[in-house]
Amino acid sequence: MINIKELSRTELKDFLVGLGEPAFREKQISQWLLKGACSFDEMSNLSKCLKAKLADCCTIESLAIEREQISADGTRKYLLRCPDGEYVEAVFMAYEYGNSICISTQVGCNMGCTFCASTIGGKRRNLKAWEMLDEFLVVQGAAGAINHLVLMGMGEPFDNYEEVSEFLKRIHDPEGINLSYRNITVSSCGVVPGIERFGDEFPQVNLAISLHEASQKAREELMPIARKYDLGMLMNACREHEKKTGRRVTYEYTLIAGKNDTDENVKALAELLKGQLCHINLIPLNPVVESGMTGSSRGAAKAFADKLGRCGINATVRRELGSDIDAACGQLRKKASDILT
Ligand code: SF4
Repeated sequence: MINIKELSRTELKDFLVGLGEPAFREKQISQWLLKGACSFDEMSNLSKCLKAKLADCCTIESLAIEREQISADGTRKYLLRCPDGEYVEAVFMAYEYGNSICISTQVGCNMGCTFCASTIGGKRRNLKAWEMLDEFLVVQGAAGAINHLVLMGMGEPFDNYEEVSEFLKRIHDPEGINLSYRNITVSSCGVVPGIERFGDEFPQVNLAISLHEASQKAREELMPIARKYDLGMLMNACREHEKKTGRRVTYEYTLIAGKNDTDENVKALAELLKGQLCHINLIPLNPVVESGMTGSSRGAAKAFADKLGRCGINATVRRELGSDIDAACGQLRKKASDILT
């Protein structure tokens, strides 16, 4: 049996032609799948015969909502169950400019960042393009229309480049969801070859880098990826990216109390990013019990941003959305797997 959602539009067209069907059937079926159809029977504009043929050789797999947590600030966090019983997380956030979703790209993560719950237990598998699309569709169906997308949930997108790339093409498809590339941000912890390829292939999609430390030694302690691609290599790739695409890179900097929020850290960051077209998002850490780390206070975060501003670096403190609902990456899945297993 083939899960029909695994097929790209071209593959689906070829498959249908192989079944002796006209190519235009592809568009009809794709539209039904985007509407969330769970069976071929629902596809009322297909012939009885085609429905039967499809049901004989294809399935329609879907992600299902296992849990929904709604924060007092309107943020909604979803634990989604994949057909093979794995779980991923997606977060829906309401902003003044519209609704945004943060999706996962892998089940678990191999990158080992010490402050992150997603990496506890390592990577279990990559998500397929259709599963990422389902994260979007299922959450949109439950929470409302979404116009911004961030790939910053569980997983490292460039450790699953092919599927992420296929997903970006699918969600941007003008005959499908038609989400503008400019409304999409892909976040990496610093996988340099992925950053280079991404700049060539998706110059209109925004790039965010999880930086979190501006000194090599400290970053290595926090993020093992820094041992493979050091800060020099990462900054070169980001400068190249800026040149190639003309777009500023966003740096995510999680503020951990007493660890990376000192004046020394301000100085190191300002030095590292000097002359770059960039923006820093400061995010006080949502604590993960296992890491033993706590986030800087809101006041400390604001002071950190002001000091960066005085050094000519543009920084904002991100609203702490959903801190009452395990909104930090991997927390809900971790908690659920503790309970469900
Ligand atoms: S922060 Fe991102 S890259 Fe690092 S372990 Fe967590 S999910 Fe993986």
